[in-house]
Amino acid sequence: MKINVFWIRRDIRLSDNVGFAAALNDNLPVLPIFIFDKQILDELPEDDARVSFIHEELSKMNTSLSKHESGIRGYYGKPLDCLAQLLEEFEVNALYTNRDYEPYALNRDKEVTEFLEKENVGFHTFKDQVIFEKSEVTKDDGNPYTVYTPFKNKWLSHFDEATMIQDHALNLTNCLKGKFDFPALEDMGFVESSIKVRPIDLTQLENYEETRNFPATDGTSYLGPHLRFGTVSVRSIIRKLEKKDEVFLSELIWREFFMQILFHFPHVVSNNFRDKYDGIKWRNNKEEFDKWCQGKTGYPLVDAGMRQLNKTGYMHNRVRMVTASFLCKHLLIDWRWGEAYFAQKLLDYELASNNGNWQWSAGTGCDASPYFRVFNPENQLTKFDKKMIYVQKWAPEYSELIFPTPIVEHKFARERAIATYKEGIEN
Ligand code: FAD
Repeated sequence: MKINVFWIRRDIRLSDNVGFAAALNDNLPVLPIFIFDKQILDELPEDDARVSFIHEELSKMNTSLSKHESGIRGYYGKPLDCLAQLLEEFEVNALYTNRDYEPYALNRDKEVTEFLEKENVGFHTFKDQVIFEKSEVTKDDGNPYTVYTPFKNKWLSHFDEATMIQDHALNLTNCLKGKFDFPALEDMGFVESSIKVRPIDLTQLENYEETRNFPATDGTSYLGPHLRFGTVSVRSIIRKLEKKDEVFLSELIWREFFMQILFHFPHVVSNNFRDKYDGIKWRNNKEEFDKWCQGKTGYPLVDAGMRQLNKTGYMHNRVRMVTASFLCKHLLIDWRWGEAYFAQKLLDYELASNNGNWQWSAGTGCDASPYFRVFNPENQLTKFDKKMIYVQKWAPEYSELIFPTPIVEHKFARERAIATYKEGIEN
């Protein structure tokens, strides 16, 4: 029997899914598949919380699909090998999937396109994880934006509620009937993590604009991992927003801003967005880096943030900015070190956003703050966690009268950073 296949990737859900809906609306039964990509998984620790999360969400989908006497066929290996195996197991008419814009994914999909073409199997891809992709929001001359505010304005002027956030519901009765193999976490060398992703709760957005900068309040959405892995569709989130949620919408636009930066300027993955910063002489002191990672810098807000990250896989945005700036400016450690550490730990790790925000903090990125603006971690503490509620939760030793000694004195570090950046730019 001929079938169509839907390849689940960054869209782990059975609701509002553009590519999946398109496959189900075609006239053949649809088999959903998921590939645990060995090339990505081999780099991760055995208790990686994101792998646990993905596996758990796929298991939930399997339970729902079993009500339609169907399920997901799971593979573990290199994507091309798994697709070759799929074609041996089933007579496949076409493969449907949603587009992914990271350099690794683009390259993988290029290979998949060539492979399927040779095998005479159709390959249909769809826009799903964003409202605007690739070059849909550009300057009037067609060049990509590198500054956020005009990008946001153009995004808003193109945005049409009637067509862009409509629900792509799934008719699951068209899924292929049967029982399909699906690997257990242990089959792939993983164990369940004790770190869990918070479920979606948009009531937290009640006072988003007023509370979002204060790490002690639960004032943000915690949607990061859900948007990253597509356990919710961005359209469904926007459908629920009200007029008062404009500030929140602009955060979702930041997400798309960095995605299009990565798409148009893939050199940012390992290079400064602006090469005029290539001459900065980073100190890259390994001992200081370890102290930063462990949250032992002697700066309360920095230490609390790093401990929150290490314990929960999450760090509040305000504190991400303070810790990142501290690493790059106060310690003069290459932003790529910090970026890699966040990538290991963050549940919501996303290449485009992580890279974009790190380069923003380091001053090397697009639309970045000027290099001579150096966050004062003490002032940030006074402004955003005056009563030290957040700090005491994550770094309780700061409730004692004797503070741990700071790793570096602020005024000295600030002047050193400015001088080093200046020299790097001028040489
Ligand atoms: P909310 O405030 O509720 O925002 C809702 C959603 O909007 C977020 O989930 C995210 O998808 C998007 N968003 C919000 N702020 C930003 C932003 N500045 N840039 C891009 N998208 C944003 N975000 C990631 O999703 N992945 C990362 O790997 C990541 N790394 C970061 C590294 C640094 C150094 C900094 C300063 C920020 C980083 N961010 C990253 C952005 C931001 O901190 C997180 O998106 C946010 O804290 C996630 O929590 P939330 O879902 O409760 O956010």
